[in-house]
Amino acid sequence: MGYFSDPDVLEILRQYRRLWAISHASALMGWDSETYMPPGGAEERGVAQAELATLYQELLLRDAFTSLVEKASRKEGLSEYERGALRVLNREISIMRRLPPRLVYELSREAQEAFQAWREARARSDFGLFRPHLERLVQLNIERAEALGYDDHPYDALLDLHEEGLRTRDADGLFDYLGRELRQILERVRERGDCMAGSPLESARYDQQAMERVNRRVLDLLGYPWDRARLDVSPHPFTQGLGVGDVRITTRYEGFDFKRSLFSTIHEFGHALYELQVDPELRMTPAGDGVSLGVHEGQSRFWENVVGRTRAFARLVKPVLDGELGFTAQYSPDELYRYFVLVRPGAIRTEADELTYNLHIILRYEIEKLLLEGGLRVSELPEAWNSRSEELLGVRPANDADGVLQDVHWAHGSMGYFPTYTLGNIVAAMMGEAYGPGLEASIGSGDLEPVRVFLRERVHRWGATYAPKDLLRRSFGREYHAPALVSYLGDKYSRC
Ligand code: MG
Repeated sequence: MGYFSDPDVLEILRQYRRLWAISHASALMGWDSETYMPPGGAEERGVAQAELATLYQELLLRDAFTSLVEKASRKEGLSEYERGALRVLNREISIMRRLPPRLVYELSREAQEAFQAWREARARSDFGLFRPHLERLVQLNIERAEALGYDDHPYDALLDLHEEGLRTRDADGLFDYLGRELRQILERVRERGDCMAGSPLESARYDQQAMERVNRRVLDLLGYPWDRARLDVSPHPFTQGLGVGDVRITTRYEGFDFKRSLFSTIHEFGHALYELQVDPELRMTPAGDGVSLGVHEGQSRFWENVVGRTRAFARLVKPVLDGELGFTAQYSPDELYRYFVLVRPGAIRTEADELTYNLHIILRYEIEKLLLEGGLRVSELPEAWNSRSEELLGVRPANDADGVLQDVHWAHGSMGYFPTYTLGNIVAAMMGEAYGPGLEASIGSGDLEPVRVFLRERVHRWGATYAPKDLLRRSFGREYHAPALVSYLGDKYSRC
């Protein structure tokens, strides 16, 4: 296999160390902004982050550096790790070269204004306040797609930005198929009704300290290495990797419906484990992080859903819950499981169960594509959103706040992000299928080391060495294989 030995590559890595240091600092600042920074720090932090981003771009695009990368890329006989590091650098250089600084600046400035407008619009449930900003952001994203270039569809350029190598034709195929199959599964679930019966646990209130102890003990069960990892609190849970020796997750406590806090913690654990299990040889190199949003989301959904929402896991965590929360003691493991897998089609994506979640993504995918093609005007958006929600989920949002204004992504200026959530669900199901039927037994035994090793060998250790589709083909024999998700959900929700 071989690690890094080519003299040109070694020189590239030496120079790259400075770029990595900027990313490292910026990541830590980002984590701090979401956790402990006092609100008054936002403005100066924003300036500091923007200056670091500019410095990064300047260093990356220096002629001396890019010509060294070009020279090394023409070499034969490089190791897989060396080729992987060069692939990541070439991709980054080519994206940054194609985007004119004016466009980057306008996108970031418009996104800042749009975010403020979106918050206000959502609070008042008034799409009109957000509409002019969204119109400009759609236009800027069309310009971004034109600048980046594409073969078939402008949306290709935006998809590729979020998931290397993903094309609109791939996504069309995945979502057509999933839309059909998942709605059939949902129809059967509706007819039976057993997976949709509510649970009193949804409204049971918990003490935050007790719930934090639950989360920490569950992380112990999963094998979270506290000497290299942290758990903190933030309104929007996330994971920040700073290196294989320092990965941080956050969770939130709403005070009721404890599965939200529990599964959010397990979700972020999945993201964290990816970064924690990257081969230390890749530290501080361009290939030292997870390869893409979709593959990353696959890791989090695997632990959250494929591991966490199982009968075996309900049995495993029951003693922890009974010990810390107490009120779970009167429920059997099966009742706990039914609470974990409750299906409830609703208007809001972030509250969706794993079965209906992808229908929310299909809605966004269709709408983003239409907006970019010019097939839908921003002014027509609320109505288009609501009707499609009704068709796909059987639920018409009560207002714009719960409809077209519910997600922050567009206000941040990003389009083409949503599909990676469904890719994650597909990857999670593919990993579950590849691990095989022994998974429940591994969970039941409480010894999850074989599961962590499996993920490390198939996915984590490689960091970004292989492009996402190559990694999936190499490790699982297929690219994003949607039938794995359909068969996983079909089996799981055939009874509750
Ligand atoms: Mg995630």
